[in-house]
Amino acid sequence: MVFYLKYHSHDIEKLHQLIGEFFNNVYKKNITVFDTSLLPTWYLTTPNRMVSMEGELTKFLNFPETVKNEIIEAFLVCEDVEALFSCEQATYVHQPVALDFRKLKDDGTVDNSIERYLISLFVDTLYEGQLGKKDSTFSKKIGSNIGSHYLGLKNESSFYDEDFNLCPFCGIEPLKLLESEGRPDYDHLLPKGDSLYIFSAINIKNLIPMGDHCNSKKSSKNLLFTDVNRTVKTIAFYPYSLSPNPFELYNIELSCTDTPKFSNSWKGNWNIDIKPNDPLDTITLAKISSWDRVFNIKARYCEYIQDHLKSIINKILKTIDSSINDLLNEVKTKLQYRLDNFYKYEYLFVSTEEGLIPTRNLILWFLSNDNFLMSYLEQKKKIQANDIDMSMLEL
Ligand SMILES: [Zn+2]
Repeated sequence: MVFYLKYHSHDIEKLHQLIGEFFNNVYKKNITVFDTSLLPTWYLTTPNRMVSMEGELTKFLNFPETVKNEIIEAFLVCEDVEALFSCEQATYVHQPVALDFRKLKDDGTVDNSIERYLISLFVDTLYEGQLGKKDSTFSKKIGSNIGSHYLGLKNESSFYDEDFNLCPFCGIEPLKLLESEGRPDYDHLLPKGDSLYIFSAINIKNLIPMGDHCNSKKSSKNLLFTDVNRTVKTIAFYPYSLSPNPFELYNIELSCTDTPKFSNSWKGNWNIDIKPNDPLDTITLAKISSWDRVFNIKARYCEYIQDHLKSIINKILKTIDSSINDLLNEVKTKLQYRLDNFYKYEYLFVSTEEGLIPTRNLILWFLSNDNFLMSYLEQKKKIQANDIDMSMLEL
């Protein structure tokens, strides 16, 4: 995780609150008939009705009392998403998932009717059918949608009139709002698929903008457990935390295992280590470990360096008169200038300057490796000489 976002309160929270209020109104009361008075006032005073949701809530009231209470209690346990991110194995209280409602019947067969109901209510009806849709009935009732939440989130986190435009999990890919669909690249921190965290499916504190690449990396992995069976609990950066931004807590160590040169297409081979600034800070260390395990961040930064090395240095060379005597010194002066002005280790820069972390570390490496710079400049001179020869041949 590179930087945090400021949590943005918004009317789209009302869907999660609606379910909370409904559950609260029916908890431990033997209510079996659905009535809209069980829902918040705003639902009744705005036009249209969410028919599918009302149908699902009607089904809920027909469940046996024990099942209803079990579902409501599970929903309540799952309310605090943030606390889960800082809770270690020793203090972890089981977070109910849809799978927990799959029961083994006396005859040995499996009854997954409640599990399927929960997926239908939270994922299909409420998330896919309402919250995640630009023009859903819910959007019309509140006069807003998830796209508006994204714009508000950007506004909330803006700094000197600049708002973040990069994925906060990697800082090397852009975030986009698909205007035509009115929905941003949001991801469920606690996954709603595979019969897992359906109780947090419409909880906005579980939804976060995430770039495509990070999203696909994360799809099969769990930030909070090191194993697929979810037995070993770990901690992770929580994106709406009010703590200091992650990039302020760690430092990156870039080392070169094979110097960039002609024979490796000037890509080189790299190794990255990410360590807490304070060697005793085991909490940040564990969070860095989760970050890398899920998003493969160290390897992706190394690849970023390989892919951008030439363009970073070539852009500098374009601004320099190649007939200057002390070319090496001139290149180093320009590199230092970029470091001081465009690749600062500050929120404004890490959230807007694509690839700042790997680029910054690469520039630092350039500045301490004169031999590499000289061999690269030498190579460039040869290329330029060849260009002249070629043009003369053409004449
Ligand atoms: Zn990303």
